[in-house]
Amino acid sequence: MGSYRCPQFTRRCKKGKEIAKTIGMKTFEWTVIGAGPAGIAAVGKLVDRGVKPLDIAWVDPSFKVGDLGEKWRRISSNTKVKLFLQFLEACNAYRFWMAPDFELKHLDPESTCLLEAIADPLQWVSDHLKLTVHSIEGHVDSLELCNRVWKVELKGEKINSKNVILAIGSVPKKLSYPELEEIPIEIALDDQKLTPHTNDTVAVFGSSHSSMIILKNLLDVGVKKVINFYNSPLKYALYMEDWILFDNTGLKGESATWARENINGVWPDRLERYLSSDPQFQQALSTCNKVVYAVGFEPRTLPNTPQLRGLTYNDRNGIIAPGLFGLGIAFPEKVEDHFGNEEYNVGIWKFMNYLNKVLPLWFQYAP
Ligand SMILES: Cc1cc2nc3c(=O)[nH]c(=O)nc-3n(C[C@H](O)[C@H](O)[C@H](O)COP(=O)(O)OP(=O)(O)OC[C@H]3O[C@@H](n4cnc5c(N)ncnc54)[C@H](O)[C@@H]3O)c2cc1C
Repeated sequence: MGSYRCPQFTRRCKKGKEIAKTIGMKTFEWTVIGAGPAGIAAVGKLVDRGVKPLDIAWVDPSFKVGDLGEKWRRISSNTKVKLFLQFLEACNAYRFWMAPDFELKHLDPESTCLLEAIADPLQWVSDHLKLTVHSIEGHVDSLELCNRVWKVELKGEKINSKNVILAIGSVPKKLSYPELEEIPIEIALDDQKLTPHTNDTVAVFGSSHSSMIILKNLLDVGVKKVINFYNSPLKYALYMEDWILFDNTGLKGESATWARENINGVWPDRLERYLSSDPQFQQALSTCNKVVYAVGFEPRTLPNTPQLRGLTYNDRNGIIAPGLFGLGIAFPEKVEDHFGNEEYNVGIWKFMNYLNKVLPLWFQYAP
């Protein structure tokens, strides 16, 4: 077993040498890879279930609340404020009762909000959790199971862990129209970063929550024309008494309001829409000079796992292999509604609920 030393920890810890020596040959009980909302949920729940904080290693390149904190702050949420508050109150380890007076606490619990309203409290939670567990700023390159222990390899160092949770997030999918200049989705979704393109005709692929926000943003900054290409009719979430139809795939909040007024209502002059199978598709596309792809997400490149080629996960319980589990947008839970419609559950409150269900299994499913 390789020895392990963490300079960051040694610097931070008051007892310095003594504790650094203790973790020198340590095998952690749990390693959480990723510090987005899913990683934050995982670390919080492990501590709440009695795992000693120093038996948890937590790895992320920046600890800035993942994509939600770094890319999606200016997006209007499809989750209600009350569910974000429930997420923050769901773990004792978060100590949210001690938190500063964040804007989120003053918003209407039944309304949606900009994602920055939840990103700020999550950053506060992440900052103090990071100090209690054994945190490492870095990128995990590979995972290997050896003698019933996972070897977690980072640049220049290895750690040993009995269990590993992958909470590594996803990246936007793309289509390939190289003749069109791409506006990256994170720019198109951010009203403060999107600069006016008054001579541009922009193709937007997709008809989801993100697509509606992008159509609105592009029209607001005054582009010449926006042409939306889509595969299926708009879908709206429907709030029933104790469940939600199209909870994950239907439009909610401000994007639903905008779509009802502008697509199912009165079309703005500068907007055109075509089914991707429409005979006019090619002709319409040829009038565009820029493109935004809002066609969903796929898991980020996984750490190399030579023993698990084509790594897959069980989408009902997150198990990848003994002692190796997946959580968050890269490994969402598959759920079925009252009418048998299947969807993947995505959203930070859903990650927390799912953890409550699966953690008792994960604690038993050791290598
Ligand atoms: C348009 C849009 C609207 C949204 N609306 C909502 C909403 O209303 N409600 C809601 O709850 N959520 C919303 N979200 C956010 C959504 O829930 C995201 O899915 C969330 O950020 C995913 O969290 P995550 O922790 O799974 O992944 P991420 O936030 O992507 O975090 C993953 C982290 O893992 C790190 N990582 C990856 N690989 C490694 C590695 N090998 N080693 C170390 N670290 C690694 C990454 O650097 C990153 O920091 C929205 C997102 C979008 C795009």
